[in-house]
Amino acid sequence: MAPQIPSEQWAQVLEATGKPLHYKKIPVQQPGPDEVLVNVKYSGVCHTDLHAIKGDWPLATKLPLVGGHEGAGVVVARGELVKDVEIGDHVGIKWINGACLSCGYCMRGDEQLCQSATMSGYTVDGSFQQYAIAKAAIVARIPKECDLEAVSPILCAGITVYRGLKESGCKAGDTIAIVGAGGGLGSLALQYAKAMGLHTIAIDGGADKGEHCKKLGATSYVDFTKTQDIVADVKAATIDGQGPAAALLVAVQEKPFQQAAAYVRSKGVVVCIGLPADAKLSNPVFDTVIRMVSFKGSYVGNRADTAEALDFFRRGLIEVPYKTVGLSELQKVFDLMEEGKIAGRYVVDTSK
Ligand code: NAD
Ligand code: ZN
Repeated sequence: MAPQIPSEQWAQVLEATGKPLHYKKIPVQQPGPDEVLVNVKYSGVCHTDLHAIKGDWPLATKLPLVGGHEGAGVVVARGELVKDVEIGDHVGIKWINGACLSCGYCMRGDEQLCQSATMSGYTVDGSFQQYAIAKAAIVARIPKECDLEAVSPILCAGITVYRGLKESGCKAGDTIAIVGAGGGLGSLALQYAKAMGLHTIAIDGGADKGEHCKKLGATSYVDFTKTQDIVADVKAATIDGQGPAAALLVAVQEKPFQQAAAYVRSKGVVVCIGLPADAKLSNPVFDTVIRMVSFKGSYVGNRADTAEALDFFRRGLIEVPYKTVGLSELQKVFDLMEEGKIAGRYVVDTSK
C-alpha cells in the first residue's frame, strides 16, 4: 500500500539571515522525475547549520530556508525516472543533495566539487522538516539494520571525518591530532581513527570534553584552555616527541588553524575541515618548505565515502554519542552549540 503523504508538515524555517527560526507548518513538495521524497524521522544538527543561519560564509543561502543535512528517513514517493530506490527504503539526506554526475569532477567521483551541486539545508531545503527531497542518485543508502536515530550524524559528521582521515594519508600505527575532538565531527573522528588503527591526540576545551574524548577512545587529551604551550604538549603526546603525522582540524575558531603546522612532525599533513567565519591560514614559508609540511582542505565525501562510512557504523565500530530533542526545540540546540557546550551531537526528532 502506498504511504499516506500529508499536504502540510512541520518545519523549522529561517526567513532572514541572522534572525530566529520559525517552527511552523509548510506545504509538502512533490519530487521531480529524478528525485525521491523522504519522510525524515531524525536529523543530526551540524555546526554548518549554525554557520548558515548566521551568514558566516561568503556564499548566500536560499531564503526562506529549511536547514539540516543529516536527515535519516524512509522513501515515501519517487519520480518516474527513479528505478533503483524503492518506496520504503531507508535513505539519508546529506550535504550534497544533487550533482550533475556528468562533469569532469563527477566522472572522477568528486561530486562535492561539481559546479552544479546543490546543498541540503543551504541552497535547497534540507532535513529540519518532516518531508525532504533529494536526487535519487545521491541520497545515502542506509542499511535497514541501522537505527535511524543513531545513524543520522554519520550523514555529514561521519562521512566528512572518514574522508578527512583518508586525506591525511595516515597509516595504522600513526598518531593524528583531532582538533575540536569533543564536538560532533571530532567525536566521530576519534572513533573512525581508532578503527583505522591510528592513535589520537584529542584537543578541545574543558575537563568534561576530556572525559568524553577518553571514553570515545582518545589516546591522550590536550585542553586548549589550560595548556601553556600547545605545541610542546602535543609533541610530548607522541612516541618519539616529534609530533603527530597529521592534524585533522574540525574546530570552529581560527587559532588552531594557525597552530597545527608547528606541532605536526616533519612531512606532516594539516587537514582543514572546520569552517570558522573569516578565518585565514598562515604559516612561515621557510618552515613549510624545510619541514615539508602539507596543507589540505577536505570537503564532505563522495558516494563511495558515504557507503563506506555507513558500513563502519553498521559493523558496530562507531558509537555515535547523541542526545535527542524535538524538532520544535532546535533553537535550544543552536544556543548550546554557540556556547561550545555540546559534547557529541544533538539529533532532532521530527515528530515532536
Ligand atoms: P561542534 O560545535 O560540534 O564542535 C566544534 C568543537 O570545536 C567544539 O567541541 C569546541 O569546543 C571545539 N573548539 C573550539 N575552539 C577550539 C580550539 N581553539 N581548539 C580545539 N577545539 C576547539 O561543530 P561540528 O558540527 O563538529 O562542526 C565543526 C566544523 O566543521 C564547523 O565549522 C562545520 O561547519 C565544519 N564542517 C565542515 C565540513 C566539511 O566538509 N569540510 C563538514 C561538516 C562540518
Ligand atoms: Zn554538516
